[in-house]
Amino acid sequence: MARLVVVSNRVPIPDKDGVAPAGGLAVALQAALQERGGIWMGWSGKSSGSREPERLSLRQQGNITYAVTDLTDTDVEEYYHGFANRVLWPVCHYRLDLAEYGRKEMAGYFRVNRFFAQRLAPLIEPDDVIWVHDYHLIPLAAELRRIGLKNRIGFFLHIPWPSADVLVTMPVHEEIMRGLSHYDLLGFQTDHDLQNFAGYLAREGIGNDLGDGLFDSHGRTFKAAAYPIGIETAAFAELAGKASANIMVRKARQSVEGRDLIIGVDRLDYSKGITQRLDAFERFITNNPAYQNKVTYLQITPKSRSEVPEYEQMQRMVAEQAGRVNGAIGTVDWVPIRYINRSSSRNVLAGLYRLATIGFVTPLRDGMNLVAKEYVAAQDPDRPGVLVLSRFAGAARELKGALLVNPYDVEGTANALAKALTMSIEERRERWRGMMDHLLEHDVSRWCNDFLRDLIVKTPAAN
Ligand code: UDP
Repeated sequence: MARLVVVSNRVPIPDKDGVAPAGGLAVALQAALQERGGIWMGWSGKSSGSREPERLSLRQQGNITYAVTDLTDTDVEEYYHGFANRVLWPVCHYRLDLAEYGRKEMAGYFRVNRFFAQRLAPLIEPDDVIWVHDYHLIPLAAELRRIGLKNRIGFFLHIPWPSADVLVTMPVHEEIMRGLSHYDLLGFQTDHDLQNFAGYLAREGIGNDLGDGLFDSHGRTFKAAAYPIGIETAAFAELAGKASANIMVRKARQSVEGRDLIIGVDRLDYSKGITQRLDAFERFITNNPAYQNKVTYLQITPKSRSEVPEYEQMQRMVAEQAGRVNGAIGTVDWVPIRYINRSSSRNVLAGLYRLATIGFVTPLRDGMNLVAKEYVAAQDPDRPGVLVLSRFAGAARELKGALLVNPYDVEGTANALAKALTMSIEERRERWRGMMDHLLEHDVSRWCNDFLRDLIVKTPAAN
């Protein structure tokens, strides 16, 4: 069996007791790595100041070698905060207004990818299969090929891939697309992302759809397909079933006191539609005053990327808005919105999802959105809640039992809350059962196996 090499921006290194950070993706990839033996390489998350680190720091755990490198201050600034988070992230989430193109940042992005390739290449054996993750590392295969590697290399994009009209606004779109052609397998979250990718090749005249998922571009033939990522469905459902004993979950239950709980859980990010969601909740109460004091909306929003100015501004904006809405619709004995700006453990989240009558998940654009899947997995089969889900989340293409909304339509989203709260228990069960069956069948280990199967099997027209 071929050895597996996973490369991602950050690496979930286990602590000294061998306990790895939780999360479905890490668990699934670690399982695949343990089975085949292999390496997980990436950035340590630390800065080395102004000196470029000379070697990778290696750590063996069972069959897995974790290999990480620090990055210089300049590299972190240009590659990570600069190009990855201030160009690729906004462009892929259709926020052209927030993309900031700087020559230094673009150069830094390609330079760090070359640096990763140079550090990784000496560890690679001829039969190794390499799986690169996400938008930070698009040029990595091209850099590994430049060094002479002929291995099978796959790439999975966790975020959306935009339409050609959007992508061509990015000054380096050609280099980025050329970078993608050096992989043997490209995985997207949804068919929609795949169509956007194929649409760009056709529109710019740089490639052909050969059928059967095969494409050619820049003189290479590769496969591209959708592999919607799943969660550890069964394990998460079990966690949720046990979480009612958790002290935080018990306190939350007591404080809700017979009201219906609406829950939103998102990293603080402009792609998540949090301000539109707060507007929709306010509109729902204004349109349906009978629900005053009958619902509590809990929004859990850990900070993220505070080094990027838009994120810092957003933090203030959301906190102010939650305060304003509470001031406008609250009463002496009712605080409608509880806004928490810290992260919660998976255990607590699982329990809170299960308590909630509505999972309120309304991103403006999202590659998949795992919170939507976790909310469904956490429900009590006898009394499942209702998922109100943005049509612009990748998850909307699978979770057919959700109430799909357009998050830009405040009135429509408010109406969906009313519909969810009045839905019969029979309809709730029926909608939930379909979604849960789908999630049990398409969990994260299946996602991992499907991708690896296609990566390992040579495509007929392999290069
Ligand atoms: N999450 C968490 N604690 C929090 C908030 C979120 O553990 O306080 C987890 C959540 O359970 C989910 C992930 O973070 O697994 C978020 O994934 P998603 O795809 O929804 O959004 P992303 O943050 O990757 O854009």
